Amino acid sequence: MDLSLTEEQLLLQDSFRKFFLKESTPERVRAAAQDGVDRTLWLALIEMGALHIRIPESAGGIGGSLFDAALICEEAGKRLASAPLAEAIVVAQVLASLDSEVAAKRLEAVLSGEQIIVPALHPLERGGQIMPAGAAATAAIGLHDGELILIERASDNEGRQHWRLSQEELRDRRTLLASGEGAQTAFLAAVEEWKLLSSAMLGSLAHEALEQAAAYARERIQFGRPIGSFQGVAHPLADAVTDVEAGQLLVRRAIWAVSSRRPDAAAFVSMSWWWQTQAAATAVRRAVRAFGGYGLSVEYDIHLFNLRANQLILANGDPYRELEIAGERLFKGATGPLPDAGEIGITFDLDEKSAAFKDKTRAFFKANYTPEMATKAHHSTASHDADFHRKMAEEGLLFANWPVEYGGEGRGSREMYASSEIYEEFNYTTHVLGTTTVVGQMVAQFATAEARAEIVPRILAGTALCSLGFSEPGSGSDVFSAQTSATRDGDDWIVRGQKMFTTGAHLADYVILLTRTRSGGAKHEGLTLFVVPTALPGFSYQPVHTYQDEKTTITYYDEIRLPDRYRLGEVDRGIDVMGAALSLEHGSGSLYLGQVRMLENALLWAHSTEYGEAPIERSSVRARLAIVRTRFEAAAAMVARLVWADDAGRHNRAWGPMTKMFITETYVKSAWEIMEMGGPDAMERGTHPLGMVELGHRRAYATTIYGGTSEIHRSIVAEKALGLPKSRS
Ligand SMILES: Cc1cc2nc3c(=O)[nH]c(=O)nc-3n(C[C@H](O)[C@H](O)[C@H](O)COP(=O)(O)OP(=O)(O)OC[C@H]3O[C@@H](n4cnc5c(N)ncnc54)[C@H](O)[C@@H]3O)c2cc1C
Repeated sequence: MDLSLTEEQLLLQDSFRKFFLKESTPERVRAAAQDGVDRTLWLALIEMGALHIRIPESAGGIGGSLFDAALICEEAGKRLASAPLAEAIVVAQVLASLDSEVAAKRLEAVLSGEQIIVPALHPLERGGQIMPAGAAATAAIGLHDGELILIERASDNEGRQHWRLSQEELRDRRTLLASGEGAQTAFLAAVEEWKLLSSAMLGSLAHEALEQAAAYARERIQFGRPIGSFQGVAHPLADAVTDVEAGQLLVRRAIWAVSSRRPDAAAFVSMSWWWQTQAAATAVRRAVRAFGGYGLSVEYDIHLFNLRANQLILANGDPYRELEIAGERLFKGATGPLPDAGEIGITFDLDEKSAAFKDKTRAFFKANYTPEMATKAHHSTASHDADFHRKMAEEGLLFANWPVEYGGEGRGSREMYASSEIYEEFNYTTHVLGTTTVVGQMVAQFATAEARAEIVPRILAGTALCSLGFSEPGSGSDVFSAQTSATRDGDDWIVRGQKMFTTGAHLADYVILLTRTRSGGAKHEGLTLFVVPTALPGFSYQPVHTYQDEKTTITYYDEIRLPDRYRLGEVDRGIDVMGAALSLEHGSGSLYLGQVRMLENALLWAHSTEYGEAPIERSSVRARLAIVRTRFEAAAAMVARLVWADDAGRHNRAWGPMTKMFITETYVKSAWEIMEMGGPDAMERGTHPLGMVELGHRRAYATTIYGGTSEIHRSIVAEKALGLPKSRS
């Protein structure tokens, strides 16, 4: 996985960013509203080489990749460029691929700005259709009975907002460009490319609309506060920006799928288009809403985003149809010609080191994961196997990402992520591992030398487990209101209190404990972290059973005498240690993995003929499963961004919380979607595929709560991704 842009791509992006900022101002966008083309901008764009980008160098073009073209379209979308850019890029590419004089002449006319030619997205034998960006087009190219034809626009269409291609135009104004399979393939591939380029455009347009809404929400004061500090304003924007970024990453993943000629690449194109149409439509509406009544005033630019998004979304017809196509491509083997993406640079493939570490993990599981363990497998601490855990540690699989100075191997996030995919393959739970690795890293970083020497080697050897003691009966989300106290007594501390939901405490050797060491003052002050050996007198616990069949625990600290060597960090500076611990917890990117199994179970059900015809034969089922798969791929793309960014040192404080919120919330939605399709069958417990999905649904719900609830994550996304004011104190 490597989502870095190359030097050339950064340069390309930067030059088009500056260009559109200067040449596509809101005033220019308004002035071009009649037919949607700013002719000065259009000629300058041609001058910049935008239409040459996908024409091979051998044919006089730039020979850029599909991703390069998408980067240009992103910049155009952000500034609502009044130009049929995606259309002209793909038309130029098709014309350049044809070996005919007519096509060469037309290409020349397009590249000189003399003519604007757009693609007819649907087969022409179906009759009239509205041409995308057709208001200013002089001609269109499209397929008619397997032939690639060009249709001149009739002059009496001029001055209208759209070009609705008429039967007369089709009959009287057509020229044959090419016939045969080659021409047909080139054109169909170009339509798929148009979907990707337009998806890229929609994503950046929607993102910019949200940024403008956020800027307004920072400034606009109502009830004595900036409106962005109201969750009713901030949370819908946070959800929208999350969905839009998921879509932008999905488009990159689709371009990678096309470039690597994956069998499901065509499905990726459809999934990207459908997702972006939904995400963008919601985003622009929410952006307008943040402006209140002013959002409806044409004086404000935000309405332009709404209008342009709608135009673009509807250009390809009902987006639901594309979802159906995604279903056919995913589950009925339908496919279509795809463009040659060229050298795109980015990749979602595992790098060599990660693939090797994954192989090592797989080999270990094959040799050591017993059938008994598989029977016991459960997404909770219930299936923890001490012997297996110890062997994994000995093999260097568990804490390999820790820095070498802490005793780890300094492996990257991508390697660990690749390895964790095997856990999913074998249905192996990571609950205790997750909490142990957080505590271990906190101890390695903040503990005294003595405590480090005692605890870290045991964790590394796989013989000690740890739990997180943050939540209390009176403080969950508001974790810094903790009341469990630690009072100094000579060289020791006396710890008194109770923690709630200390998952895995019944197995743990140590609990990391958030305590209050000074009362009075701000709640964030006077907190201190300790690591408490559970063997100390005064420690006890009691189970709490949850509806997702998990067991967590309440832990009690009854006058525990705790030596000062178990303190983490400075006295009263627990906030520093908590910051590091929470960022490890919030940054978790592997949660989406439970969804792999859910998808498998959904497909098992969809292909079963228990009640006659298999559900997958119904287009509604295929479409809904396509939604589930789309969310899954978007989640995978988000996780990929997180692990790549971590390895590349590109820290962004929004991405961890955004990813956690997205993968857990979509997990809940998808599980429910599958259950709805199954109806009462989904209430079957045991090993029925839908029963497993139902269990997944309950499990998924818990993932939206622990590690910080989705509401808290939404607030963090609003702050870190959109710069909105804090809504919590
Ligand atoms: C299965 C499970 C395992 C867990 N494991 C651990 C663990 O190992 N260690 C640990 O320390 N904790 C653990 N937790 C606790 C978990 O972190 C908390 O449940 C969570 O942070 C929410 O706290 P709460 O339950 O007290 O709910 P509350 O904080 O009371 O929240 C109730 C509701 O109000 C919402 N809410 C609260 N504040 C705000 C706000 N400012 N804005 C908007 N909405 C708000 C919440 O989102 C939620 O919907 C676990 C929880 C579960 C369910």
